[in-house]
Amino acid sequence: MDAITRSAELELEIQANPGRFRVLTGDRPTGPLHLGHLFGTLQNRVRMQDLGVDLFVIVADYQVLTDRDVADRLAETVEGLVLDYLAVGIDPERATVFTHSAVPALNQLLLPFLSLVTVPELQRNPTVKDEIAHSRQASVSGLMFTYPVHQAADILFCKGNLVPAGLDQLPHVEITRLVARRFTERYGPVFPEPDALLSAAPVLLGTDGTKMSKGRNNAITLGASDDETARLLKGARTDAERHITYDPANRPEVSSLVLLAALCQDRDPVDVAAEIGNGGAAALKRTVTEAVNEFLAPMRARRAAYAADLTYVRKIIQVGNERANAIADQTLAEVRQAMGTVY
Ligand code: ATP
Ligand code: MG
Repeated sequence: MDAITRSAELELEIQANPGRFRVLTGDRPTGPLHLGHLFGTLQNRVRMQDLGVDLFVIVADYQVLTDRDVADRLAETVEGLVLDYLAVGIDPERATVFTHSAVPALNQLLLPFLSLVTVPELQRNPTVKDEIAHSRQASVSGLMFTYPVHQAADILFCKGNLVPAGLDQLPHVEITRLVARRFTERYGPVFPEPDALLSAAPVLLGTDGTKMSKGRNNAITLGASDDETARLLKGARTDAERHITYDPANRPEVSSLVLLAALCQDRDPVDVAAEIGNGGAAALKRTVTEAVNEFLAPMRARRAAYAADLTYVRKIIQVGNERANAIADQTLAEVRQAMGTVY
């Protein structure tokens, strides 16, 4: 079954029984969150939370070092991520927001998990290959190579069984499933086999027509000003054809802009494109800019309000880390029991 069909099936299960699910998902603190995150995963996180699903949001601070030597201004970037979470509606009263570097027992799971996958399985992972291609390092570090196994520890430490994520994360979730399955075969049932949950925008493209990404200078961030948003969208790549249509396979850049407006306005992209029609790229960009700025306005206002006092943001991380540690210690105790390493 493909991931999109599976996601639709999961939606029904979640509606019927939200208590059966625990969400684990998160982001690398490599920069501010953008529209790709919002439509690819953040909205699903908030929706799950509001349906009553237990939500864990991980700030994957060790994984910043997969593709660069030093993590610059990490504390500031981490606080920025939490502001983005608050802005989109993640509620720290109901959700656990934590940084994985502060959870030793989570990281210790990496050792047994590494023994459950082969080097060729890691080498074949298309997302690792893609991230290596975009890496700022001359050669691949061991941390980059083992990234998906670390992610298995991130998901499984809290027995997460639902991972709202973008398309690029599917190969990683597959490795998590493999680790969970093999752990069960060798040592007995401790971990669930998690499912990825895709959104209607599993890969949102950036202004250059490739995956919108923090590292590629092609992103519209949630916290950007209206003017900055207008400037970035003005510079977005389109194509030579004047008539605007929604045709993602043949016109990825134009269609991505149409989709962006449609997502912001909760409309069908085909209708958005038809309305612009012969208005061409200039009209398309005007429509998208207005739609994005209008849609983000309340989130931007909330973000600015929370940014005024970072004590609250820091408290959220502290409380989240305490909760994550308690759960990770418990899981590691079960792993020790299952592996026969209790002496
Ligand atoms: P970086 O370039 O630093 O890797 P990123 O923008 O790829 O940053 P991540 O922190 O790696 O962001 O991704 C966090 C989550 O957001 C993942 O679930 C990922 O699938 C999702 N995501 C990121 N970019 C997009 C996008 N353009 N479209 C849909 N989902 C996305
Ligand atoms: Mg990424």
